[in-house]
Amino acid sequence: MRGNLTAADADDKSDGFSLRLNTSRLITSRMNILRRLLLLLLLAVLAQGCAARRGEVFQYATINSLLAGVFDGDLTIAELKRHGDLGIGTFNGIDGELMALDGRFYQIRSDGHVYPATDTMRTPFATVTHFEPTRTLVLTNVPSLHALEQQLDALLPNKNAFQAFRIEAEVEQLKTRAVPRQQPPYPTLADAAKKQNVFELKKVTGTFVGFRTPDFMSGLNVPGYHLHFLTADRQAGGHVLDCIIRRAEVRIAETTQFLMKLPEAGAFQNTDIARDRAAELQQVEKNGSR
Ligand SMILES: [Zn+2]
Repeated sequence: MRGNLTAADADDKSDGFSLRLNTSRLITSRMNILRRLLLLLLLAVLAQGCAARRGEVFQYATINSLLAGVFDGDLTIAELKRHGDLGIGTFNGIDGELMALDGRFYQIRSDGHVYPATDTMRTPFATVTHFEPTRTLVLTNVPSLHALEQQLDALLPNKNAFQAFRIEAEVEQLKTRAVPRQQPPYPTLADAAKKQNVFELKKVTGTFVGFRTPDFMSGLNVPGYHLHFLTADRQAGGHVLDCIIRRAEVRIAETTQFLMKLPEAGAFQNTDIARDRAAELQQVEKNGSR
């Protein structure tokens, strides 16, 4: 503003002086452009600081906190979306299974139905990534989830990296589960999972989404494979217990970048999440399979 006033005053002065002030106006306008560019740069840096890096695996809370009964978290689905467009997890109260695909977040509840997850819902445990596949392969006639894991393991050279999966599949048979919403005081996950509903689907097409987590992450996430499924018509799915696959197009995103956020309040703060809960995890993750 000051530059404009000075320039207007200068119109009555000599040409030379006016020229000098015009130059000054030019410099002022260039400084404004520079200032705007710096502001844009600052905003870009801030945005980078807030959002996840491409390909990074982002995790909220730990699998042991979930096993111990910390069923309420403070992370909203809106915040989770900033860290990834593909992933799995659950909702506060263990109200069903969470699945994210193409940036859409779904809630597969124990009634067997699939609901859109709203931005204000919260999660006590979730893992997501901005999915950018680094490999694609096709598998046919896979007789079980165990066989799928073995076949994928044989194709993955780096057992200490994180792999995210998106598997488009024609499925002969599928066994999934969803845990019903729990009320406080919360039980352990192993006890809550005893009331899980198991769904048997036959001849469906749909998408498996999940991760292979390295064994050294034991206690933090589920070592090995953890997959959820959603049918192509978005009507059914859940946490995968077993499957017979006719054909699968497997997209894999391998990454060595990992970011973990912990709850800032609630039961997480004073719960024993350090002890070995591998046996409970085995029971919860594989219960009902095979
Ligand atoms: Zn699950």
